[in-house]
Amino acid sequence: MCICVNCLYVDRCHAYFAVEEQHQQPHLNENPDFEPLQPSINVNIRTKDNYIETEWDVVGCESFIEEIGKWAKLRPGEAIPT
Ligand code: SF4
Repeated sequence: MCICVNCLYVDRCHAYFAVEEQHQQPHLNENPDFEPLQPSINVNIRTKDNYIETEWDVVGCESFIEEIGKWAKLRPGEAIPT
């Protein structure tokens, strides 16, 4: 799972904005203003039925500050992106 969902900066971060783009998810914030330091992004590519699915996850980041449930607080009742 992407560590960003439990990061203080999830709704301000350029890298997470890019992950949302890749997953075709609605943005938490259309104008992110935070540039993270050295995020590591893991890209998984797999075939599913008749198409190729890619999954992007931030797996490490020097700017990470833990705030458990940050994404869920911003989108109450919605499923956390995996
Ligand atoms: S972990 Fe890094 S890339 Fe993810 S939201 Fe936080 S600052 Fe951005």
